[in-house]
Amino acid sequence: MKIIAIDIGGTDIKFGLIDQTGIILQKGIVSTGKENTIENLLDKLSEIIEKYLDKDIVGIGISSTGQVDSKEGKIIGGTDIVKHLINKELVSVLKEKYKLPVIMENDVNCAALGEFWMGGAKGEKDFICLTIGTGIGGAIVLNGEVYTGSNGVAGEFGHIQIESNGRKCGCGKKGCYEAYGSTSSLVRLVNETTGESLNGKIIFEKIHNNEKIYVDIYEKWCDYIAQGLSIIINIFNPKLILIGGGVSAQGDFLLNSLKKHLENKIGENYKKGLELKVAKTGNDAGILGAAYLLLKKEGLI
Ligand SMILES: [Zn+2]
Repeated sequence: MKIIAIDIGGTDIKFGLIDQTGIILQKGIVSTGKENTIENLLDKLSEIIEKYLDKDIVGIGISSTGQVDSKEGKIIGGTDIVKHLINKELVSVLKEKYKLPVIMENDVNCAALGEFWMGGAKGEKDFICLTIGTGIGGAIVLNGEVYTGSNGVAGEFGHIQIESNGRKCGCGKKGCYEAYGSTSSLVRLVNETTGESLNGKIIFEKIHNNEKIYVDIYEKWCDYIAQGLSIIINIFNPKLILIGGGVSAQGDFLLNSLKKHLENKIGENYKKGLELKVAKTGNDAGILGAAYLLLKKEGLI
């Protein structure tokens, strides 16, 4: 029994063939291409699917960036990356073409389920997942299921306003959490302070080398992240928060900084037993979660 799992991102499409125990048998990555049309995307997806069709396939699980209505199988909103895909038929077209069950869910929700199935949240039925990268994404897992809200867009923590009339966000609003706590924001803070255009990797090297100006910027940035985390913690009183996205490579170094900045932002009863962990499945989280969701929807797990 195998699932074709696909993770549609802004610049590339990751895919894999996964069995019902969560083992990735094969995987690959292709560029989404320059042509921003639904037809182009469907062609790319068909190419991937047809590679594996002769295998013992039980369905296709898709993780996608953007706001996803998983009931309708459509992308219903998001930044410029997915503008051309909004409200276009995607799941229904693939179902009809391949006569297989097809599901689609938001990428952060899939990543959270991937971590629940095979990663850092194994055995945890309730937890919050926060992905910090170019933007900030979120997922709420309750009783082993993603809570998606009435329109499928619950848990978009990146767009909680943390500064009134603050910095403009890609979503069109001002002062959003992701405009302050994302890695793009760290890059911007460095640029504003030093005039340098450095990427995240180099900035972290300087922070690890204890170069004061970068450490100070890092502390300010961690304080922003902790500010958003405190809001989430006050709402959910979670036992576990998983930090995913590019920054998860910083491991305990980042977690310890965040704990320090959270110290005076949350009350004692929220701190009891609270665990902050980094995600373990890395770039595979999306395809694992999409495969898990397909198995779950089909009653195979
Ligand atoms: Zn926003």
